[in-house]
Order: sequence, then structure tokens, then C-alpha cells
Amino acid sequence: MTTPTTATIPFFPADLFEEERDALLETVRVIGTAASQRFILGEHTARFERELCDRLGAGDVVACSSGTAALTLVLNAMGVGPGDEVVVPAFGCAPLAATVVNIGARPVFADIDPVRLTMDPAAAEALITPRTKALMPAHMFSTMADMPRFRELADRYDLRLLEDSAVAQGGTLLGRPAGRWGDAGVYSFVQVKTFGMPGEGGVVVTDDADLATRVRMLRNHGQDGTRRFVHHRIGHNSRFDEVMAAFQTHRLAGLDRRLARRADIADYYSTRFASLAALGVSAPPVGGDGRCHYVYTVLATHREALRAHLAERGVDSHVYYPRTLPAQPAFAPHAPRDTHWPNAASAARRNLALPLYPHLSDIQLEHIADTVCAFAHETRGAR
Ligand SMILES: *Cc1c(COP(=O)(O)O)cnc(C)c1O
Repeated sequence: MTTPTTATIPFFPADLFEEERDALLETVRVIGTAASQRFILGEHTARFERELCDRLGAGDVVACSSGTAALTLVLNAMGVGPGDEVVVPAFGCAPLAATVVNIGARPVFADIDPVRLTMDPAAAEALITPRTKALMPAHMFSTMADMPRFRELADRYDLRLLEDSAVAQGGTLLGRPAGRWGDAGVYSFVQVKTFGMPGEGGVVVTDDADLATRVRMLRNHGQDGTRRFVHHRIGHNSRFDEVMAAFQTHRLAGLDRRLARRADIADYYSTRFASLAALGVSAPPVGGDGRCHYVYTVLATHREALRAHLAERGVDSHVYYPRTLPAQPAFAPHAPRDTHWPNAASAARRNLALPLYPHLSDIQLEHIADTVCAFAHETRGAR
């Protein structure tokens, strides 16, 4: 065992917003002392929505309290409810299944593509029944789901398409931004996401004006925004914070630069790792179309050994996700017995995410890549 030559490189850095600390404090001061004393759904939220909307060329953007809330509001606005089924990936984060269960519908788990790690369109198609109301593919880690095929499936079977693009803000596929392929898409601004912030928030992105109107009502107790205390629908409290809206609007100017740095880091890793597949460490392909850069994940035959090897050399890593969704106690009642999701199970066993954030230095990157390469060569896939 060698001693670390550098201080530990954290997976979740403590200084993610350091560069913008002064801007954040000033935003708190300005909004906190403004005569209007408006802290939710005010002019800053409206401006943030407009700026995102322009950037995406979308019909509407509706800010709400989280990515999970965004999915919930859309499912609700789409009229998904008891008796309906929504096809979701078997591998991914809990909200993919929990949002469906929480509106009274049933999540139907489809296996994933072994390389993209996103829902396999053929597996999803095989699960469509007369009760299926929507498809909900999610972009994962650093690769977008096969949205052209999901769009085609949704059209052919007359289903709603909800694109869980919570992690993929900034990614594009065939020139079309992540979040713009579904009837609606969502982004999450929880701190670790590509446009993360120091708080909770999310948006719904859609060209469907009716859907947007319904989501707008649902995020604020079913009111229509002009007349308070007239409740058209049973809604939620899913409002957006004015301080965060002003802060994100300020940070929008630097988003492309940060996204480009994330892409460069991912490309560097993928270039260094391109020849490791035969040695038991598979990496995503070098960048470009259909990529997003939320988390950089390798699949390692000896995941725990790689994780320990990195830790011994001062590199923090993280497992997203150690279990498939149907294997979670919470979702097991919705998973048919005797069904297997072999690609999802394999990804859950092998995935390991490496540090990926814009202020990683080139020296840190090189150390991380050297450490992974050394492990692969030492073990030759057969430890
Ligand atoms: C983060 C995430 C969400 C939920 O976003 P929150 O803002 O944390 O609620 C939903 N789907 C996916 C794929 C995510 O990664």
C-alpha cells in the first residue's frame, strides 16, 4: 500500500460555490431587504424561467421545488393516476419509481442498455400494455437515453413521453437539448447536478401550453396565478425560491464554461481509459453527441477493490446505485417475481463514479486517471 501523494480529492467538494460566495451573499441581502418582501415565485423566478426558456427555445419553463417535484407535477398534469402504468428504467434513482407510486400509478421496470445504462427501448416496448399511460426514460450519469426511439414508441403507441433529464442539463442529442425530447422534460438544481445550486429546486420544460398551465397551477395549490384562493385543482406546495432564482440567473452566464470543463474532464478520462475494457474497467466513449456530464461512471469487474485502491491513493469515489430499483425494499411490491433485469443488476454491481467537477485541476485529473489505469493493469481484470 502506497501512501497518498496528494490530499484526498473529494467526490463531493466543499468549495463548489466558493467562486460565487459574494454574489450569493449580495443576493440574500438585496432580496432580504427589498420592500416587496417576496421570497417565492416573484420577479426573479419569472426572469429565471424566461431566460431558461429562451436558451432552450422552449414553449414554457415552470420552476418548482425540486426535480422530484417536477416529475410529480408533470405526471399529475398528464392525468396519470390509479390504474395506469408508467414504464421506467430498472436502474436509476428512487424518484423514477417513487413519483409514479406516489400519484397512485404503477411503475413497470424495464431493463437498461448495457452500454448507455439508460432504459432499453426494446425492453420498454415489450412491457407496453393497454394500461400503459407514459414512458419515462432517464438520462444517466454521462449518457442520454435513446430519445429518438422513445419518441417513436410514444407516438406509435399513443403514450405520453416524460423525459427525466434531471441530470442532463447542457447535453444534446442530434442537436436537440436534453429536456426537449419529451412531451415534457425536467431539470434538477440540487447541488451535484450540472446546474446545481446550494438549495432545492427544479423546472419543467415543455412546448405543450396546456400541460404548462396545469403544472403552473399544481405547483401552487391549484391556483391560477392571478386569483389567489381560487383553487381549480388539488395541487402541491412546489414553489421556487427567489434567492435561488436570482442566484441561478446570475450563474447562467458561466454555465457553458462549466459544462465545457466537465466535458473536457470526461473526455480526458475516456481517452485514458479507452484500452481498459479488456482489463475489467469499462468507461463511456469519448464525448460528443448524446453525452451529458453529470457523473463520470466506470463499470469495474472488481468494483470494491478499485474503490479501495483509489481511496488508498487519496481519491474519493461513489457508487450510484448499489441496487436496482426493483431490488429496493420500497419498490419490491411493484416488481413482479421471477422477473430479472440482468443489465441493471450488472450495472448495480459494477458502477463506480469518479470525481467530476469544473474546478478539478489537471494534476488531480492525471492522478485519478493514473490510479485507475494502474489498478486495471495490476489486476488485469482477474484479481
Ligand atoms: C436528481 C434526480 C432526480 C430528482 O431531482 P431532485 O431535485 O433531487 O428531486 C430525478 N431523476 C434523476 C434521474 C435524478 O438524478
